[in-house]
Amino acid sequence: MIRNFFACFSCLLLTAVFSFAQSSSDVPREMPVFDINAIDKTVDPCVDFFQYACGTWRKNNPVPPDKARWGRFDQLADRNLYILRDILGEAQAPGNHSVIETMVGNYYGSCMDEATIEKKGAAPLMPELEKINGVKTNAELVRQIAYMHRNGTPALFAFYSQADMHDSAATIAVLDQGGITLPDRDYYIKDDAKSVETRQKYVEHVQKMFELTGDKPEVAAAEAKTVLAVETGMAQASMDRTARRDPKNRDHKMTVAEIVGAAPNFDLTVYFADNGSPKFTSLNVGNPDFFKHVNEQLGKVSLADWKTYLRWRTINDYAPGLPHAFVEEDFLFNGKYMSGQQEMEPRWKRCVKSTDASLGMALGKLYVDRTFGAEGKERTLKMVQGIENVMREDIGQLTWMSDTTKKKAYEKLNAIVNNIGYPDAWRDYSSITIKADHYAGNARRAAAFEVHRVYDKIDKPTDRKDWGMTPPTVNAYYRSSMNDINFPAGILQPPFYGKLMDDAVNYGGIGVVIGHELTHGFDDQGRKFDAEGNFKDWWTADDGKEFEQRVSCTADEYSNFVTVKDDKGEVKLNGRLTLGENTADNGGLKLAYMALTNMIANTPIKQIDGYTPQQRFFLSFGQIWCQNVTDQEARKRALTDPHSPGQWRVNGAVQNSAAFQEAFGCHAGQPMVSANSCRVW
Ligand SMILES: [Zn+2]
Repeated sequence: MIRNFFACFSCLLLTAVFSFAQSSSDVPREMPVFDINAIDKTVDPCVDFFQYACGTWRKNNPVPPDKARWGRFDQLADRNLYILRDILGEAQAPGNHSVIETMVGNYYGSCMDEATIEKKGAAPLMPELEKINGVKTNAELVRQIAYMHRNGTPALFAFYSQADMHDSAATIAVLDQGGITLPDRDYYIKDDAKSVETRQKYVEHVQKMFELTGDKPEVAAAEAKTVLAVETGMAQASMDRTARRDPKNRDHKMTVAEIVGAAPNFDLTVYFADNGSPKFTSLNVGNPDFFKHVNEQLGKVSLADWKTYLRWRTINDYAPGLPHAFVEEDFLFNGKYMSGQQEMEPRWKRCVKSTDASLGMALGKLYVDRTFGAEGKERTLKMVQGIENVMREDIGQLTWMSDTTKKKAYEKLNAIVNNIGYPDAWRDYSSITIKADHYAGNARRAAAFEVHRVYDKIDKPTDRKDWGMTPPTVNAYYRSSMNDINFPAGILQPPFYGKLMDDAVNYGGIGVVIGHELTHGFDDQGRKFDAEGNFKDWWTADDGKEFEQRVSCTADEYSNFVTVKDDKGEVKLNGRLTLGENTADNGGLKLAYMALTNMIANTPIKQIDGYTPQQRFFLSFGQIWCQNVTDQEARKRALTDPHSPGQWRVNGAVQNSAAFQEAFGCHAGQPMVSANSCRVW
């Protein structure tokens, strides 16, 4: 899975300064936690707070040509790549190295060795294409798909493991929709001018990629059309993203015999026996209708067309590990056309990301050893506990929730597990063979290792210690099935947290992130899971109704926010797709503010840089989201990203916040004072 670079906003650290003083490293300087120079004082904070907090930063930081989005978050991620490059460079240098260092050093080196990659040409890919050419029957087609899945190449549908939605202590197999290449089903289905253009560009791209493997232009053109037709069938059978957010739409536990019987044209018995998973008797089927469709399609689409589709999925999956011609064509469509990126990132950045994606829990250990002290873990834990306490207070004060539901909410809150920095046990990658001169092979073996690791969990007790993000990742997450919140080391740094900063600034940064993740446990989807992580309704009917009314207000509010307006038209946010994140943004801001208020209750108000602590709190929050984005990327995210863009993460939340309005003296009628303020938590 060379393609699946970790979707991380990545990272940076405080203590790196001394580590790199001795080397000739060019790690960019740490950014300020609070940036007085980012502010645009020509704007009224009550008219457009995002522009006030970030206007000067935005003017001085256009999107670099090798990026599609550039914000303080991305800046942090980018700085982290430099730090990881130093670690990888040292791991490659002559001398004694640990097993882990040798492994990540060789992997990174194989990616950087472009001369060897060019010399091999398409050789790593060709045997895979020939294997597909050799498929002669539908039964062999099923086996071929099992083979591809086992080796990490996605095709037709998805198979993985996850905690049982009704018994989170056990992990079970999951069969789910999948198989399309474009980022969302809507690209295949919508009829607006932009969607039509995207499909046309996609077909041209697929054609060029087939040509690079040696197919004649007219053959490749026909193959590309076939790919679009086959994938359009799958897109039509796929549930849309917004519907998939609701756990009940993904909850279809059945026996193997039942799903096998529901899709007789596609022999799932053969698939399960061949895909490398352990034997099992029941599973969850994410979207049963999709499999009914696959079953029908199997009879309608010719074997030759299926083989064309599988060849495409293989070429597409291998492309980033092949010679420049493949990498460039892949970039021209996915980077340039789809995201508005003008240039490819330098090779070394792509190779650091690839190492993180393939061996991230080994590279992450080296990163943590270098950058993250035990005191970082302790400080964060203290803040997390402080914010959990105010959430308890907040729930207690709700006038619309009954005591019965409140009792259950406290139980859930008390049961939340806090994971900070990095996992307790490091993943053991020693079974993967990493060769210094074979990038595509290394990436393939790492992908196969990951597939095996995920399959191996089937029918075993759920491993609650397993992390879903690598330690250098600048991000955080809540998992409803585990009822845990997780903060990788990468985010516990400026601009989210500064050792020497005033509380107001730290609570506006990492404090809001902590409050955000906690609120996810109680957003429109999180609330449907109980303290143990089971999909179970613990609300009284009346309280549930009250809650749904409140989130509807938020959904309607955000559906009116415009994210792109260009010559291709105007795009508004999907308030239902982004509902969980928007609820968490609003809740997180409120909780962190409450915690700060408790913290500074007995200290006299002191201005710093001309701002009160309350104003610094909101400015710190706003500045986390300073960003510029290409129109193309904004369009793509409006369809696919459950998060609102920076502008609305900031303005959407503050216009619902009475504390913000008080801090900046805003009055009714101004844009940052919502006439119909939405509040869930
Ligand atoms: Zn979130």
